[in-house]
Amino acid sequence: MAGWVRPLYRDDRASSTWHVARDKGFTTTTYCGEKITGPLEIATHEDKPEREGRCDTCVRVEAEAREQSPLESAGR
Ligand SMILES: [Zn+2]
Repeated sequence: MAGWVRPLYRDDRASSTWHVARDKGFTTTTYCGEKITGPLEIATHEDKPEREGRCDTCVRVEAEAREQSPLESAGR
């Protein structure tokens, strides 16, 4: 599965949308280009992001990445 993440600490106005992490490090860059600093909440099951809302851009980019790597998509 893709690495769905979201900021662990969000202020009340921030959305709880899940993104796919492209690079994890001190700053996490997501597929849609968002930069997340600080601790991450990492989805352990794919149904959690599906239920709580996923970033449209990250969904699309993740699907394209999946198509380009047949080995990773073999399980679905
Ligand atoms: Zn995103």
